[in-house]
Amino acid sequence: MTRRAVVIGAGLAGMLAAAALSPSADEVIVLDRDELPDGPDHRKGLPQGRHAHVLMAGGLAAMEDVVPGVSMRKQLLAAGAHELSLGRDMVALTPEGWFRRWRHEGPRLLACSRALLDWSVRVAVLANTRVEIRRGQVVDLLGDAGRVTGVRVSTTDAGGSELTADLVVDASGRGSRVVRWLGGLGVTDVRERTVDTGLVNATRVYRAPEGAERFPMTVLQADPYVSRPGRSGMILPIEGGRWMVSLGGTRGGEPPADPDGFLRYALDLPHPIVGKLISGAEPLTDVHISRSTRNDRRYLEKVRDWPEGLVVLGDALATFNPAYGQGMTVAALGAQVLRRELEGTGVTAPDLARRVQRGAARPVDAAWAAAVGQDVWYPETHGAHPNAADRLLTRFTRRLTLASTGSYGAAAALWDVTSLLTGPARLLHPTALLAVLNGPLLPPLAGPPLTREEWRLVRAAEGAAD
Ligand SMILES: Cc1cc2nc3c(=O)[nH]c(=O)nc-3n(C[C@H](O)[C@H](O)[C@H](O)COP(=O)(O)OP(=O)(O)OC[C@H]3O[C@@H](n4cnc5c(N)ncnc54)[C@H](O)[C@@H]3O)c2cc1C
Repeated sequence: MTRRAVVIGAGLAGMLAAAALSPSADEVIVLDRDELPDGPDHRKGLPQGRHAHVLMAGGLAAMEDVVPGVSMRKQLLAAGAHELSLGRDMVALTPEGWFRRWRHEGPRLLACSRALLDWSVRVAVLANTRVEIRRGQVVDLLGDAGRVTGVRVSTTDAGGSELTADLVVDASGRGSRVVRWLGGLGVTDVRERTVDTGLVNATRVYRAPEGAERFPMTVLQADPYVSRPGRSGMILPIEGGRWMVSLGGTRGGEPPADPDGFLRYALDLPHPIVGKLISGAEPLTDVHISRSTRNDRRYLEKVRDWPEGLVVLGDALATFNPAYGQGMTVAALGAQVLRRELEGTGVTAPDLARRVQRGAARPVDAAWAAAVGQDVWYPETHGAHPNAADRLLTRFTRRLTLASTGSYGAAAALWDVTSLLTGPARLLHPTALLAVLNGPLLPPLAGPPLTREEWRLVRAAEGAAD
């Protein structure tokens, strides 16, 4: 009998889940409501694609594990993505001061447009597996409370309005209707939680000024600990000699969508470096706004009788404040859990879906703790207030961040965890604990740690604006 898996959504979670399923199913069909572009182009079903996306080291490692036959890293670098080491290629102001730049590299991240990332993954998966993508909008699940047996598709070239499957993966993103669909099957005990800072993200793409194509990624983090709305800014180098510039403000501190206001907001951040760098740069797009920034979580792993035949991954399972850059990495780690659980069993193995759901909850837990642990401190956050545990954890993370501004050992531990390369237990390692106890070994920096040449580029950018 043909073993068929159906994946809802051809975004990152969907394509990586399809790759994970491919060795274990005879047929893997990915359904997407969108017309998918033939190149690295923006598409309607992925509105967040207009905003800066960094792929953390933990996410890249999981992608490399899940996509067979090719190195995603090499493909992306060949297509123009930047590989940036957190130790050397990042200039960042944290709530505890400026990070230094070290001789050591630390974890690396990949920076490129979301359109390039999704297209590269899609091409690699289609070239190296028997995965098939079809156009179609899924409107419901088939089956009953004990087992999901397929999907109902609204308009389709998928050969009918119902598609049966041994395993369905919902990877339809933050707008997923899975809780409603489960309710229709009689599964009604899904607990959900939302923590919402009201963050608004404003993004504009610029041509990197001549000579500045390799300028370090520049990040001004929001400060959750000062009882004021958080304001942040970032310049991310992407393919094609471009800068993706994202500004963020939590409720009460939102960035504007008009070009003059955008620049003013950047210049008014706790340090004007982002504003100075873009003041003379050539804009290539309008300012785009995103309000899809809530931390939303579905505790599917806690449902008492989880149905066989259904797995939920990516944003359909949990979303995070994008300021922490974790969503795609959590999606990739979820697909990796699926691949590992399938090894030696296959898509029809009993209890497979529940085991995957429990495994996928682990990276979600880590990312949720990191995001909500900070978001809880913004004065206008909805859905959470700091409690005793938050206070304790925050004391520790603030001390660790402070130590990281002047100790590479502390910075490396912090970055390993924020890159989702290791779990939070890494912070309890004696060297990390000692670094926290000792505090920074070097004095705080008064400004961004730029080289002489980089300062020259900042002055040239300012000069170009006059
Ligand atoms: C402003 C912003 C910035 C971000 N920055 C980062 C970052 O720096 N780093 C990071 O890791 N993450 C970031 N994220 C999060 C990241 O965008 C998501 O975590 C990621 O897109 C999740 O992938 P996904 O495949 O689960 O969902 P999506 O990428 O949203 O894909 C869902 C797919 O499902 C399809 N679909 C939806 N409904 C249906 C249906 N009923 N039937 C068929 N198809 C359907 C859609 O067309 C789409 O193709 C950011 C998010 C935002 C909003």
